[in-house]
Amino acid sequence: MSTAARTFRELYGHAPEGVWAAPGRVNLIGEHTDYNDGFVLPFALPQRTEVAAARRTDGTLRLHSADASSGVVSLDVAALDPADPPRGAASWACYPAGVVWALLEAGLPVGGGADVHIRSEVPTGAGLSSSAALEVATALALADLYGLALTRPELAALARRAENAYVGVPCGAMDQMASACASDGHALHLDTRSLEQRHIPFDCAAAGLRLLVIDTRVKHALADGAYARRRASCHRAAAALGVPALRDLPYEGLEEALALLADPEARKRVRHVVTENERVARTEELLRAGRLRETGPLLTEGHASLRDDYEVSCPELDLAVATAGAAGAYGSRMTGGGFGGSALALIDADAEAEVGRAVAEAFRAGGHAPPRITAAAPASGAARLL
Ligand code: ADP
Ligand code: MG
Repeated sequence: MSTAARTFRELYGHAPEGVWAAPGRVNLIGEHTDYNDGFVLPFALPQRTEVAAARRTDGTLRLHSADASSGVVSLDVAALDPADPPRGAASWACYPAGVVWALLEAGLPVGGGADVHIRSEVPTGAGLSSSAALEVATALALADLYGLALTRPELAALARRAENAYVGVPCGAMDQMASACASDGHALHLDTRSLEQRHIPFDCAAAGLRLLVIDTRVKHALADGAYARRRASCHRAAAALGVPALRDLPYEGLEEALALLADPEARKRVRHVVTENERVARTEELLRAGRLRETGPLLTEGHASLRDDYEVSCPELDLAVATAGAAGAYGSRMTGGGFGGSALALIDADAEAEVGRAVAEAFRAGGHAPPRITAAAPASGAARLL
């Protein structure tokens, strides 16, 4: 029996009906493009969140996480309300409760409730989307338990709805789609306007490559306000240029578009978004051609654009990227919203220890807390385990 199933039995006094898992994700490239209707290219991490669950019939939702200190959180399914979510030590329960709420809101029959136990390998708050992993694993568990015929993109949309409307985080479509739909050895190309997806071969393991995920373990306080300002600035620029979103500006017409913008800051933001969408397209082409190593320079260019034009990096991310590059990475960039979180480096599989050591040493020398460094290769999306 799995650890999740065993703990479930200890907690609730009966066996779970199943165990489901959904992974965290890293975005290979395509940063700050989602709210511009653009393109992203995430892949699923091997680290997953497991959900052991069983149906109930009395309309109670009992939630427990091995990673939270609150003990079992017991909620009345019929009373779930985004205006009155679990708070304090139980606030983590918003994520799975929000999924149940979103399923109900969509008219799906999950009113009987469930007993749920959660355990996760995805670090929280590291920009690796532990929140989507938790939501998607919960959504898949409930869909299976209640025999709901939902596609993976539908599950992802419900999980996102939970995060947007119940938890109150205005995230885009990428995180839940990657966790729900990714496939082993592939990156997921997602058009955030149409939600059309393509699975792009990205078999790092077969190519002798690894992706080093460097969690800087910092989160600078300015992140939320800066995110809102970037978003607003992009939307204003699109309106000024007469396009529905910056995604509609072709790379070939970039200089022309920039010449129409008086504000130098707006020009930098637009240049990042348009060149980043182009980098996603070029990365996809290289991956399709099996030229995995050659994507490295695009990653590094993407980092420079995020640092200089979009201005969302920070000293720790810049140090991680520069050090990985100097230690032999093919390319490296910050991944996620910025101002902390994680950086990604594409390296030879056998360079893992050396690059990791160099980054750890640079952090020590720079007076930063030790980063958490793990190696990853693109893994599969959500699945039933038991
Ligand atoms: P990220 O998604 O980048 O890890 P978020 O702030 O979006 O960061 O989500 C992290 C939050 O999700 C945690 O603070 C916690 O409330 C919740 N969460 C994620 N994983 C778990 C878990 N295994 N158990 C309990 N809560 C979790
Ligand atoms: Mg999240």
